[in-house]
Amino acid sequence: MDGYPGIDVDLVIFGGGCAGLWLVDELRRRGLRVVLLEAARLGSGQTAGAQGILHGGFKYSLGGILAPSARMVRDMPAVWQASMIGQAEPNLVAMRLRSQCCYLWRSQSLLSWAGILGAAAGLNVKPVPVAVDECPQPLAHCPGPIYRLDETVIDPVSFIQVMLERNRGLVWKIDPGAGLEFERLEPGEIGGQVKSVLIQNPDTGERLRLSAASFVLAAGEGNEGLREQLGLPTPMTQLRPLRVALLRGALPQLNGHCVEGVKPKITITADIDAAGRAVWQLGGQIAEDGVRMEPLRFIEHARRELAHVLPGWQCPAVEWATYCVNRAERMVPDVVLPDDVQIIREMNILTVWPTKLVLAPRLAQRVASLLNLPALDSSPSETTQWQATAANFNWPAPKVALPPWEREQTWMTDV
Ligand SMILES: Cc1cc2nc3c(=O)[nH]c(=O)nc-3n(C[C@H](O)[C@H](O)[C@H](O)COP(=O)(O)OP(=O)(O)OC[C@H]3O[C@@H](n4cnc5c(N)ncnc54)[C@H](O)[C@@H]3O)c2cc1C
Repeated sequence: MDGYPGIDVDLVIFGGGCAGLWLVDELRRRGLRVVLLEAARLGSGQTAGAQGILHGGFKYSLGGILAPSARMVRDMPAVWQASMIGQAEPNLVAMRLRSQCCYLWRSQSLLSWAGILGAAAGLNVKPVPVAVDECPQPLAHCPGPIYRLDETVIDPVSFIQVMLERNRGLVWKIDPGAGLEFERLEPGEIGGQVKSVLIQNPDTGERLRLSAASFVLAAGEGNEGLREQLGLPTPMTQLRPLRVALLRGALPQLNGHCVEGVKPKITITADIDAAGRAVWQLGGQIAEDGVRMEPLRFIEHARRELAHVLPGWQCPAVEWATYCVNRAERMVPDVVLPDDVQIIREMNILTVWPTKLVLAPRLAQRVASLLNLPALDSSPSETTQWQATAANFNWPAPKVALPPWEREQTWMTDV
């Protein structure tokens, strides 16, 4: 790799989804010289398409017990809330919210809420019963009680934009296919540790060597390719495919879960698209079932399911679309979905998965403690000297991924 200009940094992060972005912010504020490298648009794997619910654990208590997943997330809404009101770093006051709360209801009144509500007693965010006339109109004819859950729904794209602005100069675009090369220390030094990575400026073609003490792989689905390139064992990532339904038209705002059995049958989140139309995104069990269906059949299925979970509601004429996306999590033997953030440490490389958007702050804290970084003081952060130095490289910044409904989709009016 001789002959190329180089710089010394403390840490290089690969991947600018919620995991990498929260981490770059945290490490910058702790005084590290850190750079984040992004191969496509920021958040283009999962984060930009996430439904954005800051789960407080209720979703994971539907089996009537306080599951480990629920314990892991129950403190997280308060962590985000402190940032959203500007009382903690990162300051997320500028982040757009989709909703302050979610609603919970059942499509059949026969099943009891008693066990679920008992389990929810161990959570910080608890469901509160609401009168029908205080609910969004589509829930007016739902049988059984309706609950409000103070779980905020964020706009993940706005989160990414805020984090990019906060960390300008440190978030760099790379082309992973062009000129990415890792260099290791000689065996006999600290055997096998990665010493540097050679990157190429996608605009100018110029190459630069980043020498770092540590490397973090936070690239979601892309972690596998990076691990292969680094000669680390694979597979370590599990992909859980989903087929998500989108509706757009004169829809009311509704965010929440229709619960059947121990899972949300449908999770609805609402937003407004660039043309001012309301958009609904349908996740939950329906998105897991949908991967076995062709798009048209899935849309027919989703339409039937929506009528089932919102009985008596007259859905306006809408356009439908569907797309597939993979959840990328650490592969843990005999575990369908890890309960907590996941980190593998191999020499000076950490491979990380947040498991959920809401856990991104917890992941950053865990990485900081693994790196033995001193605790942060609580004063508001200034742009660090390193951020100003890094900005002088004029390295191009990646764009932010679009929400799924602004990407190329085939919209169908009549199925
Ligand atoms: C439909 C859907 C809904 C969801 N809803 C919720 C929710 O409501 N609440 C919740 O808490 N969680 C939710 N999740 C889960 C959550 O979105 C993910 O756990 C989280 O976004 C993962 O973040 P990440 O940073 O690990 O990965 P990603 O968001 O996938 O980001 C990885 C980044 O790495 C980049 N990259 C890839 N390869 C390379 C490389 N070689 N070099 C550099 N960069 C690379 C990618 O371009 C991408 O920007 C949802 C997920 C999906 C798919």
